[in-house]
Amino acid sequence: MKIITHECPECRTVVAANELEDNRVMKCPGKYCETVLRFEELPEEDREFFLENRDQYRL
Ligand SMILES: [Zn+2]
Repeated sequence: MKIITHECPECRTVVAANELEDNRVMKCPGKYCETVLRFEELPEEDREFFLENRDQYRL
């Protein structure tokens, strides 16, 4: 399974796409980082792949 992640542009914390997709918008989980991450910031290719295969990402 392809792992899709998004990296915070500020602190480099890596967030899994499924966490982002659940919330659409989330505050970066990095310590002391206030950056807001959005599912829409993922590359289009990754978003499409994720949405097509989203069942595989459910635990
Ligand atoms: Zn961050």
